[in-house]
Amino acid sequence: MKAPKAIAATLAIAALALTGCGKSGDPSASGSGTGDAAPYKVASNASVPGSPTFEKIKKSGKVVVGVKQDQPNLGYKDPATDTYSGFDIEIARWIAADLGVPADKIEYKTIPSANREAAIANGDVDYYVGTYSITDKRKKKVDFAGPYFTTGQSLLVRKDDGSINSDKDLKGKTVCSATGSTPIQNIRDNYPGTQTKEFETYSQCVDALKSKLVDAVTTDQAILLGYAAAEPDALKVAGEPFTTEKYGIGIKKGDKALRDHINAMLTKGGDIWKKLYDGSLGKSGEKAEQPKVESY
Ligand code: GLU
Repeated sequence: MKAPKAIAATLAIAALALTGCGKSGDPSASGSGTGDAAPYKVASNASVPGSPTFEKIKKSGKVVVGVKQDQPNLGYKDPATDTYSGFDIEIARWIAADLGVPADKIEYKTIPSANREAAIANGDVDYYVGTYSITDKRKKKVDFAGPYFTTGQSLLVRKDDGSINSDKDLKGKTVCSATGSTPIQNIRDNYPGTQTKEFETYSQCVDALKSKLVDAVTTDQAILLGYAAAEPDALKVAGEPFTTEKYGIGIKKGDKALRDHINAMLTKGGDIWKKLYDGSLGKSGEKAEQPKVESY
């Protein structure tokens, strides 16, 4: 099932309204979601000694970044202009600039939740920035830099449904999430009596919710707030987050040099982080602090 054009268009309009700017994906802009000049410079003599990924990037003069394209304010592709916007996209551009690659030399590849480890391991992408939680299971296959953001699993329901107000109300309900995601696994493992339905993407789950095929969509609060904001008359976020999800940048296992390089960039760049957040996800009104970078 494909996301119908109507929802894509609605999301596009909402995303524009939320970012207040339609130029965020413009490759001629230097990368900031605000449409202003980016709050960082493209490094003129970047070097990451010992990183095979960086060697590849240097040779080709471009980076291939794995992203999401249907998550407003995080990773979103405007169907009218084919340009990308959102906080994940901003982080991806900042990393590229730090590696010496300008925004117009970034190739975006949409990779759904279930295919991320394979895409990183196969070298289909140089790195991945797309609501990607750092977990022990994933760490067996990929490495993570970060975290660069913290959120938690939550619930999206129809606006007129008063029967689900927290994860305590899920017994006997059908909840939808993306294949290969942490939230679907959590429901399966810890919520007996709750039915699950899965699709490749969360926007497909949102369609299923609106057509009453499922009772709720579950994934990270940061993602769900974007869908609720896009259709405030039809959808609402119910209750508070009930897990902790730390977003990391997925990189090829063993490329410690690249991981350390990105971690150093995140650690140094607190002001930049704040500007990028305020210009994208922060427009939804959610306050957030940059999480402390950890060593994985
Ligand atoms: N952060 C969760 C995960 O990595 C849910 C969002 C997603 O699927 O991208 O599984």
